[in-house]
Amino acid sequence: MGSGGVGKSALTVRFINASYLEWYDPTIEDSYRKQFTVDGQACLLEILDTAGIEQYLTLNDLFIRESQGFVLVFSLTQRDTFREILKLRDTIYSIKSTFDIPIVIVGNKSDLGDEREVETSEGEKLAERWGVRYFETSARTDTNVWLVFEEIVRKIRSSDHYK
Ligand code: GDP
Ligand code: MG
Repeated sequence: MGSGGVGKSALTVRFINASYLEWYDPTIEDSYRKQFTVDGQACLLEILDTAGIEQYLTLNDLFIRESQGFVLVFSLTQRDTFREILKLRDTIYSIKSTFDIPIVIVGNKSDLGDEREVETSEGEKLAERWGVRYFETSARTDTNVWLVFEEIVRKIRSSDHYK
């Protein structure tokens, strides 16, 4: 989850297809499945690439309730998208009836160094406060993308609700 344009689709496509799309329809919400191995154990990860968060609130309630883990993505080049993930976390907590929620924070577009608006230390500080991991990624240059999905699988596995 994350604001429009932060690179949710680009990260998903990079992970699923090992390719980079310059443009992906921002209104398409799609799910993808990938089988891979984390810490020597196979898993089948189903990823919902969300779109238009605001418009379909009821649908969002449903997918939040049914999802086991959340990758909260912002763009390192847009400060308002960093603020947005605070709201998203509140929304997730208000819908889930537990505080044991697997979350990973991602600052994407690390390749755009000149346009950076959010410092690494700010992402790290937030992650520390929330007790989660923080990664800076680039879907374009394929930096740290796999780490994000491996980490969310680890968090899901170690959560109380995983069976
Ligand atoms: P979404 O709305 O969050 O799904 O964002 P998209 O994946 O559609 O990406 C929005 C725009 O940002 C597109 O033009 C992408 O090419 C671009 N983009 C996504 N990830 C990166 C990245 O890591 N680096 C750069 N430079 N651009 C990116
Ligand atoms: Mg998208």
